[in-house]
Amino acid sequence: MVMGKILLRGARLIDGTGRPPQSEAAVLLEGNRITAVGPQEEVSAAEGARVYDLEGKTLLPGLIDCHVHISMEPDAEPTRRLREESDLLLILRGARNAWRSLQAGYTTLRSLGGRGLVDLELKRAIQGGVINGARLLVAGQLLTMTGGHGHFIGREVDGPHQLRQAAREEIKKGADVIKVMATGGVLTPGVEPGSAQLTREEMQAAIEEAHKAGKKTAAHAQGSEGIKNAILAGVDSIEHGMFLTDEIIDLMLQRKVFLVPTLAAAHHIFYGGREHGIPEYAIKKTERVMEAHWQSLQRAHRAGVLIAAGTDAGTPLNAHGQNAFELELLVKAGFSPMEAIQAATSRAAQLLGREDLGTIEVGRIADLVVVDGDPLVDIRVLREKVSLVFQDGRPVERGLFGN
Ligand SMILES: [Zn+2]
Repeated sequence: MVMGKILLRGARLIDGTGRPPQSEAAVLLEGNRITAVGPQEEVSAAEGARVYDLEGKTLLPGLIDCHVHISMEPDAEPTRRLREESDLLLILRGARNAWRSLQAGYTTLRSLGGRGLVDLELKRAIQGGVINGARLLVAGQLLTMTGGHGHFIGREVDGPHQLRQAAREEIKKGADVIKVMATGGVLTPGVEPGSAQLTREEMQAAIEEAHKAGKKTAAHAQGSEGIKNAILAGVDSIEHGMFLTDEIIDLMLQRKVFLVPTLAAAHHIFYGGREHGIPEYAIKKTERVMEAHWQSLQRAHRAGVLIAAGTDAGTPLNAHGQNAFELELLVKAGFSPMEAIQAATSRAAQLLGREDLGTIEVGRIADLVVVDGDPLVDIRVLREKVSLVFQDGRPVERGLFGN
């Protein structure tokens, strides 16, 4: 297919860098790249360009969610489907979820753990144009200790040697990121969020292998001891981070470790739990950690820790395509709307090691979202008022199949 030229003009532009918005801006897309950005009188319509007039709308970089489980459904009971359904069905669910996310303006997702080869093959199907969906970066299978958090979808591995080997194998299969489980969590029965799981030495072996291969690493880490272990092992991001201490915040600043708070996950369990039949063990555990979680995020934010947005979509009641709800929660926690937008654009791209994404600047990949209204006035428009999405320089308008 011949790549066309597209001119987007007249919109309020939020470029993702944190710079103030520009009014009546224009952006030129050629092929899959952004080739010009500026005031609309300075960016001329190239010959044969398709023109979109976007007065009254806001143009932003395609949004990025740094923590989803693309092939998991937001069921109240989190593990039943994974026990009962085949990989073939899960991959179809994942396809629909990636498509829904893309329509919601999320052009890139990082999927942090799926069963078997499901997430890896889904990524390939989207990359190869078999189906349309959000661009995926995937962990393949997560690495957990025997009986550890997420063992029903992950690989149970023990000792530095097994961790090293498992990381190499996931990378060989095509993983973009290695996910390690530093602590227990909410959704595995009999496992405590505060307790440390994989040891520092175990995580270090997996992280070393990932970094040698140029891959990023993420640690599921809720309790303080496990968070500290993961940071000292060299991890790139702390996922959830419910119990941050001053010492941990200092270490995160020194080592430029990201926090991906995933407020949406706990929010849905806490507020929707009993009514929707989420298991009692998950609700009880969430109740114990909610307050610490919000306080940890607020302290990290004030201290200047790097924060990227992620939802943990696919956990109970946390639906794919509602990813921008996390940005509403970040604003409630004290972020300015601009900071929340950065967490889902430039900051997220930095965490993913994909600085060709996440901002509207010349040379970047042409992923953009258009919303009605102004998200700096009302952040909810990012979830409720998406009007157009562009991915790789093309409007998203063709359906799940059909190129
Ligand atoms: Zn998760």
